[in-house]
Amino acid sequence: MANMSPKKAVMPHQPAEVRNKNFDEVALGYTAQIAKEEAERCLDCRHKPCVDGCPVRIDIPRFIKQIREGDEERAYRILSLSTSLPAVCGRVCPQESQCEQRCVRGLKGEPVAIGRLERYVADRHNEKAKVWPDPIASNGHKVAIIGSGPSGLSCAGDLARMGYEVTIFEALHTPGGVLVYGIPEFRLPKAIVEKEIKGLTALGVKIETNSVVGKLISVDELFEEGFEAVYIATGAGLPRFMNIPGENLKGVYSANEFLTRINLMKAYLPDSDTPLRPAKHVAVVGGGNVAMDAARCAKRLGAEVTVVYRRGLEEMPARKEEIDHAMEEGIVFKTLCNPTEILGDEHKNVMGMTCVEMELGQPDESGRRRPVVKEGSEFTLEVDAVIMSIGTSPNPLIRTTTPGLDTDRRGCIITDRRGQTSREGVFAGGDAVSGAATVILAMGAGKTAAAAIHEYIQSK
Ligand code: FAD
Ligand code: SF4
Ligand code: SF4
Repeated sequence: MANMSPKKAVMPHQPAEVRNKNFDEVALGYTAQIAKEEAERCLDCRHKPCVDGCPVRIDIPRFIKQIREGDEERAYRILSLSTSLPAVCGRVCPQESQCEQRCVRGLKGEPVAIGRLERYVADRHNEKAKVWPDPIASNGHKVAIIGSGPSGLSCAGDLARMGYEVTIFEALHTPGGVLVYGIPEFRLPKAIVEKEIKGLTALGVKIETNSVVGKLISVDELFEEGFEAVYIATGAGLPRFMNIPGENLKGVYSANEFLTRINLMKAYLPDSDTPLRPAKHVAVVGGGNVAMDAARCAKRLGAEVTVVYRRGLEEMPARKEEIDHAMEEGIVFKTLCNPTEILGDEHKNVMGMTCVEMELGQPDESGRRRPVVKEGSEFTLEVDAVIMSIGTSPNPLIRTTTPGLDTDRRGCIITDRRGQTSREGVFAGGDAVSGAATVILAMGAGKTAAAAIHEYIQSK
């Protein structure tokens, strides 16, 4: 008999006043009993509408059924047929606009907590899994992957399982892309990503860190070294700025730099080599998920934090759950507000930010109401650090060093739907193609490209 509760089983959390002072994971995960109760909310629909909402088409009712039946390992095997990072996706997928948006239980209440159940299954598996996969015998073909984010990792995993000798070239000193340098520890513990990466290296995937393709070696030189195909998965890590006066002052960061220092360089530890300047009042400019992550990190470092966003709360692109968590943690939201200048003292340190109030006018080309300046509304926010989080685009290094690689006006690589670029043997996917998107879409692109690369090499 199905559990007809209109609400999802509650996810245990660290209390807001405790978690806003530490970097430990906020959501603590379902217990076996809670997971079973939630699994009983699934109606095992014959047409599986939820599956259509998942970019990698996980067989959702089938894996949930295994939780009901207490066979978590089988549930894990079902997940593994479609995703190589279930512990990651269960935590960070925007489920409310994907699988859960299509769940029929959402018509009269809350949808089944698909993401939380996916996380539950992956965590139980990871707790028990002690044996790494054995290396797969080589089929004699070499593939190079540029970038070790979710797209590069999922492409590498699929190709390695087919017997390809895969080498990933990663610019940073640690693999994982945004999963390690962007998304904070309190949303995605790094041990989970490390474990996934260890599984790939056990399969035989080589990872060359500190290897910036376009500087150390070019795409053309990779072919000269014997790689038969190249997959570009370099993400969209180049931050945008507002181009207002004062953005070069000390204490102004891009969200990417701020988060990298914290997540990758552990700037919050007293013995960190790359500490952040102490700040008492931080303004975060922007309203997306990245802005929420930056604001919540700044709060954990002890600052009073204000999110400054030019539209209203309703229009904020960040996930509702992230906005709610940020509010619970004591972050102030100043909506309908736009910075016009960052002010500095005689040492060029940030000492304030001039803003104007906004009101919403007619819808723009995106369909959202355009914010317009309210006359005479200028005021100064007292801040000593500003984090700009107004979007990113792909870094130009690869496109400027790879002749014949077509890109669009945003600098994104143009591909067909299987990831084939304008250059023979060169494939691309993830944020480098789509612009800033999501982990699961980047992973899905990696899987699609792996199949296309296999076909390409086998047909040569
Ligand atoms: P990336 O993860 O960006 O990885 C690209 C890798 O390529 C990086 O490691 C980079 O160092 C490397 N690289 C770049 N250039 C070179 C080069 N020339 N040579 C060698 N290596 C290179 N999505 C969600 O679904 N849920 C979330 O909650 C979420 N939160 C986010 C929070 C933050 C702070 C950010 C920044 C993004 C978030 N996203 C989220 C978006 C998601 O992380 C990205 O869409 C996804 O990581 C893209 O994957 P990717 O593999 O294409 O690129
Ligand atoms: Fe939902 Fe993401 Fe899991 Fe697909 S991968 S079922 S979209 S949480
Ligand atoms: Fe279960 Fe919802 Fe999918 Fe139906 S739509 S099978 S209730 S998760």
